[in-house]
Amino acid sequence: MAKQSKTAGKSSSSKEQTVLNPRTTKFEFGGFPGALVLTLFLPVFTVLINKQLTPDAVFSTDPFYYLNPCRSKELWIPYLAWFAGLAVFDLILPGKSMFGTVLRDGTQLRYKINGISNSFLLILVLGMRWQITDGQMPELVFLYEHHIELNIITILFAFYLATYCYVRSFIYVNREPILALGGNSGNVVYDWFIGRELNPRVGCFDIKLFCELRPGMLLWLLINLSCLHHNFVVENNFSGVNDALVLINLLQGFYIFDGVLNEEGLLTMMDIATDGFGFMLAFGDLTFVPFTYSLQARFLSIQPNDLGPQRLALITALMALGYYIFHSSNKQKSDFKQGKLPQLKSIQTQRGTKLLCDSWWGMSQHINYFGDWLISLSWCLTTWFVTPLTYYYSIYFAVLLLHRQQRDEEKCSEKYGRDWVTYQKRVPYKIIPYVY
Ligand code: NDP
Repeated sequence: MAKQSKTAGKSSSSKEQTVLNPRTTKFEFGGFPGALVLTLFLPVFTVLINKQLTPDAVFSTDPFYYLNPCRSKELWIPYLAWFAGLAVFDLILPGKSMFGTVLRDGTQLRYKINGISNSFLLILVLGMRWQITDGQMPELVFLYEHHIELNIITILFAFYLATYCYVRSFIYVNREPILALGGNSGNVVYDWFIGRELNPRVGCFDIKLFCELRPGMLLWLLINLSCLHHNFVVENNFSGVNDALVLINLLQGFYIFDGVLNEEGLLTMMDIATDGFGFMLAFGDLTFVPFTYSLQARFLSIQPNDLGPQRLALITALMALGYYIFHSSNKQKSDFKQGKLPQLKSIQTQRGTKLLCDSWWGMSQHINYFGDWLISLSWCLTTWFVTPLTYYYSIYFAVLLLHRQQRDEEKCSEKYGRDWVTYQKRVPYKIIPYVY
């Protein structure tokens, strides 16, 4: 599937390999100790915050209390079937073919973009199950009732998948794989965490792109639906539904489908273009997204919150504003890069490309992050001010976007040199106009 360069199929000399895959010298997250702490802390945090929202939750300091139920094949089989089923559909469903960014060896990988057919199939299956089971949907009940155990299973699965990707990055026979610039330090734990190989693939199946948009994002959608189902069918016997719970399902469902349907936009993003696939991304995609982005729906399924028309309108308006900024600024940059908006002011760089500094991109360097953050705030507001717990998401997302902005600034400053300095003078604000 890859557009192979002339040298890619032959073994390269060790000097060429060093040039292709230089040693990592700049460390993220405080290097090895930071990677170790995050590997231990994030899974525990995810389980504990979900436990907090589970009725009759029992807390134990014995890790085996949490791990024992997860040895059960009644839990592993559905999760593996989910992951493998989506992988098979990803491989067989039709889609358009696109090339990713040019890699360091001059090659480009080919990707199949079939988010539309995958989403259509999922909606069809859900509709059919609703019809066949008269709305009882045993799969959603199972998901709701085994939320914590499934959460732990995804953590273990992310651990195994990251380990598989790390080990296989050493055992290429005929050619040197392209490694992530940030994940080739030689420290086992750090490289395993950050991700050593840039694009691990099994044949034409791209593990990283698949994990970014399928098993985690769609599981998030199903968890939200399981909460709505719990409230509407199990608790209220089809006779009434909580407006806040409906709203969070609609807002997040829209965001999820928007991400899956516009998956080609991901090909130029940092996660696909520059980051390796290690525990950080595997855990983020498979556990953190489905089991913490769904906290508002989980909370509302246990403690329904009647918002009423005014608050519903306010939250929807905030989401619409955030989405408008997020979507139109991302589209504007993408159109500009394709030469569609020549009338907008820009800076010609020494590298031959242009840096847009007009319209949305004259307001701040990452106005799209601001829009995305407003979206996150609208979701938290569906629980109104009943609990601080669900606001974790906006706080976490602000930290993620700040960290991302700093990484991007470092990258662009290295890439564009003096042109980046000129750009920063023209567009001084980083994310929020006139604030930061
Ligand atoms: P950006 O879309 O801001 O892209 C940054 C890259 O675009 C730069 O590295 C540079 O790349 C190019 N660029 C930056 N400024 C300009 C300019 N003025 N003119 C032309 N090119 C420019 O960031 P991301 O890729 O990080 O994010 C994309 C979207 O995804 C955002 O809306 C973000 O909010 C969202 N996101 C959502 C997450 C979630 O969990 N929900 C997680 C992460 C991101 P180059 O020079 O190489 O072209």
